[in-house]
Amino acid sequence: MAIRTPQEYIESLKDNRVVYCLGERVKDVTQHPILKICINWMAMDFVLQQDPRYQALVTEKDEEGELVSFVFQPQRNVEDLLRLREIVKLWARVCYGKPSGAKFVGKDGLNAVTVVAQRVDKQFDTNYSERVEEYRKYLQKTDATIALGMTDVKGDRSLRPSQQQPHQDYYVRIVDELSDGIVVRGAKAHISEAPLSNEIIVLPCRAMREDDKDYAVCFAVPANAEGLTLISAEPEIREPNNFFDYPLSASIYLNDAMVIFDDVFIPKERVFLKGEWSFAGQIAYMFGNFHRLSAETYKAAELELVVGAAALMAEYNNVARAPHIRDMLTWLVQYAEATEVMGRAACEYCVSEADSNLVYPNPMYANITKLFFADNWHQATKYLQDIAGGIVATAPSGKDYFNPETHDMIEKYLGGKAGVPTEHRLRLIKLIRDLTSSYEDVLTLHAEGSLAAQRLSIYALADFERYKAAAKRAARIKDEVEHPLYSQLPDFPPRSLA
Ligand SMILES: Cc1cc2nc3c(=O)[nH]c(=O)nc-3n(C[C@H](O)[C@H](O)[C@H](O)COP(=O)(O)OP(=O)(O)OC[C@H]3O[C@@H](n4cnc5c(N)ncnc54)[C@H](O)[C@@H]3O)c2cc1C
Repeated sequence: MAIRTPQEYIESLKDNRVVYCLGERVKDVTQHPILKICINWMAMDFVLQQDPRYQALVTEKDEEGELVSFVFQPQRNVEDLLRLREIVKLWARVCYGKPSGAKFVGKDGLNAVTVVAQRVDKQFDTNYSERVEEYRKYLQKTDATIALGMTDVKGDRSLRPSQQQPHQDYYVRIVDELSDGIVVRGAKAHISEAPLSNEIIVLPCRAMREDDKDYAVCFAVPANAEGLTLISAEPEIREPNNFFDYPLSASIYLNDAMVIFDDVFIPKERVFLKGEWSFAGQIAYMFGNFHRLSAETYKAAELELVVGAAALMAEYNNVARAPHIRDMLTWLVQYAEATEVMGRAACEYCVSEADSNLVYPNPMYANITKLFFADNWHQATKYLQDIAGGIVATAPSGKDYFNPETHDMIEKYLGGKAGVPTEHRLRLIKLIRDLTSSYEDVLTLHAEGSLAAQRLSIYALADFERYKAAAKRAARIKDEVEHPLYSQLPDFPPRSLA
């Protein structure tokens, strides 16, 4: 089949999947007014693949000469990673800051298992890489949409998966092994787009010990598999198609759903890790490397929107020249541009996987960039809300603005600088409300891993020996420890001039 049309994607969702939304079992997800928001947003991937202006960027020919999605290719060099970045940025710019979710998270899961399956095969003489490659071909041929299920529901956070009480299913685990596959049980939480995806790749969300080996499992499953239940996240919006009041939330619904596995059979050709517990953490961290790069890429595009909204509002209210407003705008610009350049560095300084032709984003830079933008997001939304004023919380609805009985009063009294139409100001106010919603705050903090996850990675990766050697040299501390860089440097000040 190779690349699909948006309509083909939508038709593929009529497959008896078990989806719940707002208290009801949804018989046909394609007809549901709220789920349609997510479907239409995901369909943009297929719109772009069909568009001659973008096809060369977002598609590639497979070995049979058929056009397939570029994001399903393995990543082999800096150029591949930079191209992936351009694609994510295009998705994000087209969809008002949020990349179409059709393959956005799933591609990072595919890249993570591609790298780590080879490591597992080397140590255990397994054939996971072959299975991953077969699965990749399947994704390419069907042009599937894929969600990624890593985050388990986790129960008591202080306990390991096998220690949980009162049941053992807080992390997805293998409950039975058959000659032709495995049976899995448990639940994943916050799995974006899962109810509207064709496929879900499932990874462990943490490092495991031997006692947890049943939880060291990685596989791919169709979203309509028997025993799978998908419970939609409560949508922000209950009024579809109202783009005046909800410019973003009427266009974008990630549907970060619960995915419940009630003894689901997974055929062995779709299993990519089965009990090799020492590799569970490696898959989780490798997914983090790829997904943090994706996050900082779309965030850089979303920040263009945030800075633009702040600058426009300052203009509409005619406060742009005030020193404190300029300070805030300057801070916003440095935040947006630093996120952009740091994310790019994670590609430019990518790591080559040993004994293979694969690369992955620089883990240190990918983690630092994610931590940087997530840790500063609330500061950015605070500035945006500060510049915009209280009207972000109190503006009348579009229904009142467009009601002939109240329109003229709102038009007259909610104007800004002369010459700026009141409607423009109101539309911008609504955009800022959506951009600074609590959903956006929580998403930025937790999606792609909480701040502590990045801090842990940065600490573990830090080259403290280099930093300490620099300090010892400046303090003239002489000890037995040699450092390959600092111990070789010439004396300073030069002895010859002493
Ligand atoms: C909008 C959105 C979309 C998402 N999409 C996806 C997706 O598509 N796929 C996916 O797999 N995941 C997804 N996630 C999940 C995301 O990766 C998690 O939210 C994140 O990893 C945090 O996990 P948690 O929500 O379970 O929070 P928790 O783990 O409960 O974390 C809450 C706090 O407790 C701390 N904490 C947790 N455990 C410990 C511990 N053992 N010791 C000390 N402190 C601890 C954390 O550091 C944090 O400060 C999404 C999340 C959001 C918000």
